[in-house]
Amino acid sequence: MSKGGKTNLRVGIYLRLSNEDKDKVSKDDDSESIKNQRNMLNQYINKHPEFILVQEYCDEDLSGAGTYRPEFARLISDCENRKLDVVLCKSQSRFSRDMEIIEKYINNKFKEWNIRFIGLADNADTEILGNKKSRQINGLVNEWYLEDVSNNIRSAFKSKMKQGEFISPFAPFGYAISSRNNNKLVIDPVASEIVKSIYNLYLVGLGFTAIAKYLNTKKIPSPSLYKYQKKIKLNIISNRSREEIKWSMNAVKKILTNEVYLGHLIQGKRTTISYKNHKIVNKSPNEWIRVENTHAAIIDEETFNKVKTAILKRSRPLKKTGAVHIFSGKVFCQECGQYMRKKNSTSHEYLVCSSNKDGYSNCINKSAIRYDILEELILDSINKKIKKYYDLHLLVKESLQQQKNKFAKKINLLIKQKNDIKKQVIKTKNYLKSLYEDKVNGVINVEQFKELITTYNSEDEKFKNELKSIAKKINYYKLKEAANKNRKELFAKYRQLKKLNKVIIDEFIDKIYIGKIDNELNTRDIEIKWNFT
Ligand SMILES: [Zn+2]
Repeated sequence: MSKGGKTNLRVGIYLRLSNEDKDKVSKDDDSESIKNQRNMLNQYINKHPEFILVQEYCDEDLSGAGTYRPEFARLISDCENRKLDVVLCKSQSRFSRDMEIIEKYINNKFKEWNIRFIGLADNADTEILGNKKSRQINGLVNEWYLEDVSNNIRSAFKSKMKQGEFISPFAPFGYAISSRNNNKLVIDPVASEIVKSIYNLYLVGLGFTAIAKYLNTKKIPSPSLYKYQKKIKLNIISNRSREEIKWSMNAVKKILTNEVYLGHLIQGKRTTISYKNHKIVNKSPNEWIRVENTHAAIIDEETFNKVKTAILKRSRPLKKTGAVHIFSGKVFCQECGQYMRKKNSTSHEYLVCSSNKDGYSNCINKSAIRYDILEELILDSINKKIKKYYDLHLLVKESLQQQKNKFAKKINLLIKQKNDIKKQVIKTKNYLKSLYEDKVNGVINVEQFKELITTYNSEDEKFKNELKSIAKKINYYKLKEAANKNRKELFAKYRQLKKLNKVIIDEFIDKIYIGKIDNELNTRDIEIKWNFT
């Protein structure tokens, strides 16, 4: 993107400290945030050969409202004197939060002076047609401001990761966060020895489970317990007490496959969808941010590779299908809640409760279930659901539409109620204000005022509760509305299934629970949790 194919464009970067950096981006001093902005902008300039950095302007005005910004004044003056062609900022809000200033400079003066404005994090670019509206809205709407903050933090984190800085609050087992620089890993002398011994145990022939069992019998603290013992705050949710969190095959496997022990950092594997939706999604490996030799290695490359090869060799499946099985991640033990893992024999494939294998707990659900039998059973259940849906669908096709209208009507009514109450709240507030004035003017005495205030407070409380309950109801109907729609779309895709695949299972089924065998009746409970009701 060069300005009309022009090259050698003179760029001025404008940096500003801001409140949100202060508490969110880092625990360091304020200069950290400036460093991040500078890094980010410089990276951008380096990627665009048509740009040449000529000036940097840096202010410490936290509000962005322009109370005291000498560097901003210098920037504007340089623009006016045509010393720049491009003004580059982390975001439009860094430039200013004041809509008047944005309007005056970005949308008017800069145009006049032939200066292009780019805000990286919020994709503001005066050279792109149609960008103006969004820039204006961006400056106006508070909700977008929040998103902006979230993106700014993300950009800052991303830039840190690209520099090989460790950004998680928790160090991986074997390491600690340096006391001098909380973006750097240092070796934990105790835990790193445990990591080394895990690699050695694997190379002498023990498997993941055997290693977990060995560590547990030797009373070696698991990563969670170790953190707890070192008084590092944990953010895991578990109903087990810390002492019970023992080594599992997964914990061992994680250590044996993590390249962090070679001294490399691989970050940015997961992200949240947006600032509103905090659901975590996994990123594809080509988006991971990988920086080598960022810290001291615990395992040498030769040992790591030996283990890597050994893992591949030992875990080669009996049947070389190579594919993930279709129930993967869906089937759990009804007795203990652990996942059911796949097991092969020469003639059949089975699923069996993993508790008995992971090295520390035992489950009463001992018998395996045959894979093909489960598959048949689930296929049948799904087809029954589909048939039931269509039978029902024909009957209630009309009533579904009615229901939909009903939900919409209910929601509208609730919104109206909500607005009425809000109006009432404002009215009461004004009333209170007038009461206060009456008191000041001596129209009513203190006792009377107190009594009226009490009445007001209880009324206010009542309104608040009513608003809460309405919000709850609206949410409920919205969920119902959405659920209806989802179910409709799902069933519309399938009529009668002949064979299952992973996609179908994922769409229809949340979880499958397999119970233990009832010896008297020779049956077992199989419970399906559907993705809909
Ligand atoms: Zn179990």
